[in-house]
Amino acid sequence: MDVNYKNNRRYDTDKPPRKVGKFINFLIYTLSKIALTGIDYKIEKIGMEDVKAPYIYLSNHMYFVDFEINAIANYPYSINNVATIDGYYRRPFLMELAGCICKRKFTTDMSLFASIRKVLDEYGDILGMYPEARYTPIGTTAILPESLGIMIKRAGVDVVVGIHHGNYLHTPFWNYRKKRKVPLYLRMEKIIDKEELKEMSVAEINERVRNAMQYNEYTYQKENNIHITEPFRAEGLHKVLYQCPHCLTESKMNSKGTKIFCEECGKSWELTELGELVAEDGVTEFATPPEWFEWERKQVRRQLEDGTYHFEDEVEVYSLPRTMRFEKLGMGKLTHTTEGFTLTGNYRDRDYEITRNTKTLYGVHVEYDYCYIKPHDCIDISTLDDSFYCYPKKQNVITKLSFAVEEMYDMQVNERRRRKSKKEGNE
Ligand SMILES: [Zn+2]
Repeated sequence: MDVNYKNNRRYDTDKPPRKVGKFINFLIYTLSKIALTGIDYKIEKIGMEDVKAPYIYLSNHMYFVDFEINAIANYPYSINNVATIDGYYRRPFLMELAGCICKRKFTTDMSLFASIRKVLDEYGDILGMYPEARYTPIGTTAILPESLGIMIKRAGVDVVVGIHHGNYLHTPFWNYRKKRKVPLYLRMEKIIDKEELKEMSVAEINERVRNAMQYNEYTYQKENNIHITEPFRAEGLHKVLYQCPHCLTESKMNSKGTKIFCEECGKSWELTELGELVAEDGVTEFATPPEWFEWERKQVRRQLEDGTYHFEDEVEVYSLPRTMRFEKLGMGKLTHTTEGFTLTGNYRDRDYEITRNTKTLYGVHVEYDYCYIKPHDCIDISTLDDSFYCYPKKQNVITKLSFAVEEMYDMQVNERRRRKSKKEGNE
């Protein structure tokens, strides 16, 4: 049951990308240089001497600055980036001019392959992708889709990986409005040659990409002795570290200054200048934020496995069928189970129901301070032709939702592998 819009038109995400002309590319390069004025950044290229466009450029994703550094690093070649629909909000013309390929988050869009072919074969340019598909919540690699290997295999071109460091420490997703003084660094390397690609299986490609895309910003911070002295450095961290490891209460964590603490049991941890956690009293359960984060993931996994996982809440819903404005759909109800997401509501006197099946989701888009609508926690459920931005009534629950989606995907992949190897074993 669709939403009863007055205007049923949608932004056409199948539209083929434009070629980025020399002048536009120079403009993007120049504007990126200007945006980075006063910011300390470094680009290092490894094994890139004889790499020529067309190629696929895969980058990790921490903040908007990644786009600018990538544009500079790949210049004079131009990049057609796969971008998400909310990036087009109020500026579809600019995004089209910049050669972007529009996609709704975590959907499998068949027209994407045609756009990729156009960029690589017809334009001979770079296809830019951020396969993690959202800013890193905790400064470590997110789950990557299995379909990435298939796409690379079909494309048949060189693959280059760019790993940014420092961008998350400089602008963490959970408090992007307050920047810290941290130098930025991009390491770019060709990881697959197009000749070698012919002999590689999809599984081998995926493994190579996964290995190349490993990063941990807290390890990087320590190894490079980067001191973050800002007195607000822990503020917002409770958005991702939402469960207390001491009393196990969820969604009652908070943070202020350099500390994160539990409002239920009162336990408190200091985030040091070097990104380590230290309990003020008693045991320190986790040395760094990513370890805490991964522990939370395991708690969710356990709930999924023993069948106790369930989410349900009233949500305030906004949608983006086109690009010029968000439609205010009022209150709705969002449910998440092992089957997937269901969003129900009523708009202009007609009920609607939006579903996303678990089988088709490898991640979900969440925002802690969404700049386009309201500065609160929000989760985006996208279908092929619409996106629903839901603001839950419950506090601090969206990180758990994203864990649940990622873990369900992982369980499915494992199940498929298990069945496959069982079948092969029988033959
Ligand atoms: Zn507690």
